[in-house]
Amino acid sequence: MKIICIGRNYAQHAKELGNAVPSKPVVFLKPQSAILSHKHPFYIPTWTQVVHHEVELVVKINRIGKTISERHAHRYYDEVGLGIDFTARDVQAELKEKGHPWERAKTFDGSAVVGGFVPLTELGKPVDDLAFTLHNHDQMVQSGNSSDMLFSVDRLIAEVSTFMTLKMGDLIFTGTPAGVAAVQPGDRLTGRLEGRELFAVNVK
Ligand code: ZN
Repeated sequence: MKIICIGRNYAQHAKELGNAVPSKPVVFLKPQSAILSHKHPFYIPTWTQVVHHEVELVVKINRIGKTISERHAHRYYDEVGLGIDFTARDVQAELKEKGHPWERAKTFDGSAVVGGFVPLTELGKPVDDLAFTLHNHDQMVQSGNSSDMLFSVDRLIAEVSTFMTLKMGDLIFTGTPAGVAAVQPGDRLTGRLEGRELFAVNVK
């Protein structure tokens, strides 16, 4: 399986990092080894000083597809979840400056928190109108709604599948809303989708 990540998919987040709003989705990958094992704490790597949390709606692909039209994209998923795209922001800034790929900043072990998945039928709401939050202990640190995405889930599936075959079990991290910030040892990050808690991660 692969983890497809979308960058700069919310205008307010692009702005907070000083990035332009893209005309096409910004796409990068995380390896399977990036997934934080269930119930494991997240250990801040020793080689970075600034790891940001990025809470994101995650879509699970349920069948193989290539060059999927936006109109048919909804047939390729029926469950959504929530995750964190942990990002070593200091390392990423260095790489961006040099025009190098982001992998060192985005693909490290534990950098992909994947919470539980919920069938869309159970949520009873369209994929383009889902509210989600990230709390650090009792304080809300990020809040988003998929209706604010620059590129909708169906559009992302159409765009990505023009150049990459999507397979069953692939995950799409759909981008983070504004509010990214550095994590510290002792943080406890809890993600909720439409009020349902889908993950809780202790930072060490
Ligand atoms: Zn992200």
